[in-house]
Amino acid sequence: MKSFLEQNISHDSLITLFSQAPIAVSLLIGDDYRIHSANPQMLELWGKDASIIGKPLFEVIPEITSQGFLDIFKKVYQEGEIFKGNKWSVFLEKYGKYEEHFFNFIYAPVYNDDKKIIGVSAVATEVTDQVLSERKWKDSEYRFEDLIKKSDYSIAIYRTEDLYIEFANEKMLKTWGKNASVINMKLEDALPELEGQPFIGILKNIFKTGETYAAKEDRADLVVDGKLQTFYYNFSYKPLKNSDGQVYAILNMAVDVTDLVIARKEIQEREKKFRDLANSMPQFVWTCDDKGEITYMNDSWYRYTGSTAGENQTKIIKKMMRPEAVENVNSMWNECIRTNNPFVMEYELEDPHHKGNYRWFLGRAVPNFSENGEVKQWTGTFTDIDEFKQLEAQKDNFLGIASHELKTPLTSLKLYTQFIKTNLEKAGDPKNAEVARRMDYQIDLLTGLISELLDVTKIQKGQIQLNESYFDFDKLVDEVVEEQQMTARHKLFVSRINKVGEVFADRHRISQVMANLISNAIKYSPEADQVHISTCLDGNDARFNVKDFGIGIPEDQQSKVFDQYYRISASRDYTFPGLGLGLYISSEIIKRTGGKIFVTSVEGEGSDFCFRIPKNKK
Ligand code: ADP
Repeated sequence: MKSFLEQNISHDSLITLFSQAPIAVSLLIGDDYRIHSANPQMLELWGKDASIIGKPLFEVIPEITSQGFLDIFKKVYQEGEIFKGNKWSVFLEKYGKYEEHFFNFIYAPVYNDDKKIIGVSAVATEVTDQVLSERKWKDSEYRFEDLIKKSDYSIAIYRTEDLYIEFANEKMLKTWGKNASVINMKLEDALPELEGQPFIGILKNIFKTGETYAAKEDRADLVVDGKLQTFYYNFSYKPLKNSDGQVYAILNMAVDVTDLVIARKEIQEREKKFRDLANSMPQFVWTCDDKGEITYMNDSWYRYTGSTAGENQTKIIKKMMRPEAVENVNSMWNECIRTNNPFVMEYELEDPHHKGNYRWFLGRAVPNFSENGEVKQWTGTFTDIDEFKQLEAQKDNFLGIASHELKTPLTSLKLYTQFIKTNLEKAGDPKNAEVARRMDYQIDLLTGLISELLDVTKIQKGQIQLNESYFDFDKLVDEVVEEQQMTARHKLFVSRINKVGEVFADRHRISQVMANLISNAIKYSPEADQVHISTCLDGNDARFNVKDFGIGIPEDQQSKVFDQYYRISASRDYTFPGLGLGLYISSEIIKRTGGKIFVTSVEGEGSDFCFRIPKNKK
């Protein structure tokens, strides 16, 4: 009995169906699987043309032999089993290229009328594109998942309003101090310490509002390493919605910013500590930028001035200065800003509580440098020295009056002593005459000290007058040395490199300076027996040097010896009489004469004091 197909459908129609079907079809007959027929789709799939028809399959496509196909074919042919392949990988040499292809196929036995297998039918579709794109997609999916798992951000997904932990990446587990066992647990069970903290409530609320929640540097207390610790996070809760717009899960992303927040808190605390320190000081403490604009004043300043931080303090300070001093202070301050040298200056500021009254302040400022050596800011202070200034003025006043009052009786005392001395000499009483002479010498010393005090008062009041005239410098040196030699135990040597000649200056005051330097050289070299004096004309300058071989001056104190009342000797082994005024007076005289005074000295070896003054007035 013929089948329905054979009875009703023409051979031509079957051929047409066979050749036009969108799938590849082939009949392979005999135990060498000779290609009986193959539609164009099958030829295309193999990458061959119709010339292969009639040839054994494994001869024309030999590369499939080793890929298991021969065994499959044998099974179908010998045992009549149908074989299905799904996304089967086959390496084919097509158009000169040996490449992997993928196929879905069915191999079925072909029977003759006697139900005997005479071949194998093959039906196949190529699915290479589909498999490759699926593979690519999978790859990227894996990569993405990997990325999220290993991300530096802490990421978690909470499912349903009960907040089941659907997903938590490694970082999130670390943040929580947990392991993967918390996955699928309720968040509140996994992290019981969240009770009493706002997070669970916020998350549940998102299921109602559908709105993203984000927070910065928010505090969370979590049990990590077995103890409750405080952390800070920047984080967001983002609702994940289904196609109906309903929230089905929440995506939680977080970054641990604990170190940052703690570091900033530490800085803030440190700043507060310094601020408290500055505010507790009676002095006014301030900072300004590299251009001199005030950036901070402590509370004492605001209390004193009654001003507020919102006002321009740079302007306020300038307004408080004595108008006639503003220019001087400004130029000194600008110079310090230009050179980055510390600023130290005494000046008056108007008393905000008594308009028109001024108080003395010591203004100081030092530059603060950044790491690259540039000035970041200046830190400064104003110290009220008004009382000190008043006491100083009182002291100067007292010294002025006292020395003036002492001078008149001393002058009389000297005259009487000289009178007694002359009378005793005349009366032939040399013993008592010598006592009178010593009295006279002591009166000279006392007069010297009182003159020093008077000179200082005059200098402070700007009353020191220079009576300048031409005089013979070399002769003056001889006179002073001769006078000093009379009372000195040391031998005073004078060497003249060249003659100085006539000099225009105050003869008396210059002799005072020379005498002071020589007497110091003698006084401060008790174990030496010589002092060397040298003079010369150096360009237009008259130069005078006194070199001794005495105790010397430590290097760090050399510049201070010209200051008022400055004495080093008090702390030394030897105690030397003196008020610490001689060098101050000398330096003032030399400065006013237009010259310079300086010292070079080695402690324990001796000192070399020198002054130079212009020979002629310019
Ligand atoms: P004084 O009256 O104390 O000598 P001066 O003003 O003359 O005052 O000197 C100030 C200080 O300088 C002295 O106290 C002393 O310590 C130091 N000094 C001055 N001259 C010398 C010197 N030739 N050698 C060592 N130290 C000196």
